[in-house]
Amino acid sequence: MQIGIDLGGTKIEGIALGRDGRELARHRCRTPRGDYAGTIAAIGRVVGALEHDTGAAGTVGIAIPGAVSQETGLIKNANSTWLIGKSLHSDLEHHLAREVRIANDANCFALSEAIDGAGAGADVVFGVIVGTGTGGGIVVRGQVLRGRHSIAGEWGHNPLPWPDESEQPGPTCYCGRRGCIETFLSGPALANDCVMPDGVTRTPEEIVAAAAGGDPLAAAALRRYVQRMAKALASVINVLDPDVIVVGGGLSNIDHIYRSVPGLWAPYIFSDVARTPLLKARYGDSSGVRGAAWLWPATSQPS
Ligand SMILES: [Zn+2]
Repeated sequence: MQIGIDLGGTKIEGIALGRDGRELARHRCRTPRGDYAGTIAAIGRVVGALEHDTGAAGTVGIAIPGAVSQETGLIKNANSTWLIGKSLHSDLEHHLAREVRIANDANCFALSEAIDGAGAGADVVFGVIVGTGTGGGIVVRGQVLRGRHSIAGEWGHNPLPWPDESEQPGPTCYCGRRGCIETFLSGPALANDCVMPDGVTRTPEEIVAAAAGGDPLAAAALRRYVQRMAKALASVINVLDPDVIVVGGGLSNIDHIYRSVPGLWAPYIFSDVARTPLLKARYGDSSGVRGAAWLWPATSQPS
């Protein structure tokens, strides 16, 4: 049995998977925000509850909103800031009395979709998360490609390629730069790009609904959005040339993306044909927690 834990900013989700990927049990609790020791203890309780329900011991993989620095072994790049600089990996191994695998949540998402999700069977999968932010992960033949600095696949803080004049220098990003892909493709970015004449901002869902209803402002914002996604993904295809691209996160529910983007990216792709499938995530919100469980391959299971 494999246990996956998705350590989020608001909740800790835990899942127990059988070797065949079947969900055996699930538990969740609120994340003790700002409380590091409380976070460790809460993860321990979720693992305990899953093992109680299934009556078996499991391997444990954890998806975190950040990365473990290969220089220091400490957490970096986490928006759950109380984890930054902590030795989460060794503290969890001590608390759970076993070896634990930890990976960035976007990498876990990509792994889940590569193992038995929308990208199953593909050699190279690029997993994209477009939601509050814009993340990404790369899986090659069932293995997460972590990278020397644990940032492989993090395309969100590259500048938007082939920008129009109106897209330069672009919005300010929290990373300190301007015009990052995230400032064009995240949910807040889409909302900010479609402000009504009266100053009212709409959510991405409202923009999609308004565009479908013929609202010209919303339709124009959505056209800009898919054009920008096409340019941003074309530059990924030019570097990585993945066999499939899988989209997750809140904005992955915009079906317009899958119909439009592959028709727009060809002019930017250095190839006579551009046939990369662009697919919606199969497991939706569960991809992170499933991918965490898959950090331990089913073939290595003791039980
Ligand atoms: Zn940035």
